[in-house]
Amino acid sequence: MDIYLIIFMLLLLVGSVVTYIYYLNDKSTQLSTITSGICPSCNDSSIEMIDQRGAGCGPKLVTFRCTNCGYENSFSINTGSCGI
Ligand SMILES: [Zn+2]
Repeated sequence: MDIYLIIFMLLLLVGSVVTYIYYLNDKSTQLSTITSGICPSCNDSSIEMIDQRGAGCGPKLVTFRCTNCGYENSFSINTGSCGI
């Protein structure tokens, strides 16, 4: 195998991992802002939960929307314990 090809693939892998970690960090920062009722886009306290999917066990998909600037984002929230 060509050494340059290996280096290229390694760079590609590292790049995608870094992007993924950055994306996750960004998401969790936004979520913590939203759960305290603040819009991460306009910093107004006008966040509303508009949709909630996946009731019961496992993570659920919750969609939040800002009534002030129209910011909208979905988050996968782990509900934790599951009653049998
Ligand atoms: Zn907003």
